[in-house]
Amino acid sequence: QFRALVVREDGPSRSVRLEDLSPADLPEGDVTVAVRYSSLNYKDGLAVTGKGKVLRKVPMVPGIDLAGTVLESASPAFRPGDEVLVTGWGIGEASFGGYAGLARVKSAWALPLPKGLTARRAMAVGTAGLTAALCVDALDAAGVKPGGREVIVTGAAGGVGSVAVALLARAGFQVAASTGRVEEHAFLEKLGAKRIVPRAELSKPPGKPLEAETWAGGVDAVGGAVLGTVLRQTAYGGAVAACGLAGGTDLPVTVLPFILRGVRLLGVDSVMAPRERRERAWARIARDLPPDLLDALTTEIPLADVPAWSEKILAGQVRGRAVVAVR
Ligand code: NAP
Repeated sequence: QFRALVVREDGPSRSVRLEDLSPADLPEGDVTVAVRYSSLNYKDGLAVTGKGKVLRKVPMVPGIDLAGTVLESASPAFRPGDEVLVTGWGIGEASFGGYAGLARVKSAWALPLPKGLTARRAMAVGTAGLTAALCVDALDAAGVKPGGREVIVTGAAGGVGSVAVALLARAGFQVAASTGRVEEHAFLEKLGAKRIVPRAELSKPPGKPLEAETWAGGVDAVGGAVLGTVLRQTAYGGAVAACGLAGGTDLPVTVLPFILRGVRLLGVDSVMAPRERRERAWARIARDLPPDLLDALTTEIPLADVPAWSEKILAGQVRGRAVVAVR
């Protein structure tokens, strides 16, 4: 038996409770993992609170990330005792996820724990940090290089944002961090931000279709009016990696930044991202994210606190990353 956070829905009634499950409750898969840590992402907040239609099946064990030790493997790729991590691929949405002492997954989803990272630190990175690294890789592939204008990170005090600030600063960029939380200025400067841009400056309703060329590029975790403003302010030939919707799913922008300035909007998905791209992103993380800085943006919470913290993350009140101690 093992402890798990289980979401059940019975008509209009919904419950989220810690329960004891047995291995027979787990889905099919060729690798069974003793989960040590999981993490809390915005999407987990949507799944646990029910405020977003994220779960494709109930009952469900949420948790889109997990790290732990292989207990059983029918795949030649892994052996009992190997340390692995899984992020995305539908765990915690369509197949039981990381908020449980035991998980069964497809071996194709698992990655060996990257060198230099512990299970806890890998989950402090988690999907949010992986996505930040995928965004930085996308900017790099689009030719956005350090040495020119500043790059902007929106939702900077959140999970994706804080890791993006740290990675971009390490890569040599001048980073402007946009936040709605004035109290997090010192935190963002510690991560490497050179300038703080109040969220209100970017969330204003669109005025002119183009604004002064300010950014070489950006990482956007917010969407909505904020992403629209960033695109209107992106300099000629720049690119913006968009991965989030914390500020809305609409995009109030005209085609002018794209057709007059050659600005590119780079969509970034972490859930189904192919393995090579993940490996490159994890290598960037292992290389460029100093462990002490990662620890400084991490809060550890017990499994039992996930429901309360799910409300907090949707309210934009989680600083950096929350790692979940599972066992
Ligand atoms: P998070 O820790 O809650 O960060 C989101 C940040 O957005 C908040 O900290 C806040 O930053 C800002 N924010 C919140 N509400 C806002 C609002 N109403 N208007 C403007 N800004 C707001 O969440 P996360 O886990 O980092 O995820 C961030 C976003 O990326 C989410 O939308 C998530 O779904 C998405 N995401 C996508 C992928 C993918 O594969 N595409 C992967 C991971 C995450 P400040 O307080 O600094 O303003």
